[in-house]
Amino acid sequence: MRLTNRLSIGVFCIAITLFAIGMATGLEYFLYPKEFATTARGKKEIIVSAISLPIAWAIGEVIRKNQLLTDELSALVNRDRLTNVATRDYFFAQMNAAPNAYGVSLMIDIDKFKSINDTYGHFSGDAVIRHVATLIKNMIRAEDIVCRFGGEEFIVFLYDQDRASGVEVAERMREAIAADPVSPQHHRISVTVSIGGSLKDRLSDVDEAIQRADDALYRAKSGGRNRTVFATESGPQRQAPAA
Ligand code: GH3
Ligand code: MG
Ligand code: MG
Repeated sequence: MRLTNRLSIGVFCIAITLFAIGMATGLEYFLYPKEFATTARGKKEIIVSAISLPIAWAIGEVIRKNQLLTDELSALVNRDRLTNVATRDYFFAQMNAAPNAYGVSLMIDIDKFKSINDTYGHFSGDAVIRHVATLIKNMIRAEDIVCRFGGEEFIVFLYDQDRASGVEVAERMREAIAADPVSPQHHRISVTVSIGGSLKDRLSDVDEAIQRADDALYRAKSGGRNRTVFATESGPQRQAPAA
């Protein structure tokens, strides 16, 4: 039972009080003669409720505050504060919880981001990172994960997708980002991303799959940026020419 609001605390108090009345009735039955029940009827319920309700309310309030604090702490650990996508820690915790997952890892890096910072300033740079994160998040399914891996780099894991679908999703993302400039502080900034992809089969290791996606990203960068390169077993293979 989660006590997140006053209504749930009220329900908690009533449940505890009914339980206390039940206990008092049981004790009365075992400890006192039968005639006592007639004398105590009504009074017992009032006395037990008067004691139990304020105590249950105080306990409920403490539980509610602890739950809010726990929620805030897990949001701090699990959600990236700038972009509200998952943190790197959350991503690896999820991936390590399902080491046999099959799917596609995409490593996405904003191109020439340093010059965006240098030209438009850090606040505009932050807005660009947020914008790219939102576009990526909107293009994946609820069961997939996107995390901010570092400064202007994201990792996506697409569960149960094969190589062909991974390439398709990556290309759709890349094109959508290139086609949607962001306008912070009266600027209009066009951004592109480079994407490295790799397939993770059920037996392969997460870190190894991400390393292959990273190697593919490196090739996308050195091949001219604004492109997707997908790793193969034998080595990364270029998938799409720059727009
Ligand atoms: P490349 O196309 O090769 O990826 O070049 P790049 O300029 O994007 O890459 P580089 O790694 O040289 O620069 C990344 C920059 O991102 C450097 C760093 O100052 C900046 N950065 C990292 N985190 C943040 C952040 O949270 N906000 C902003 N505004 N900038 C950040
Ligand atoms: Mg970059
Ligand atoms: Mg980078």
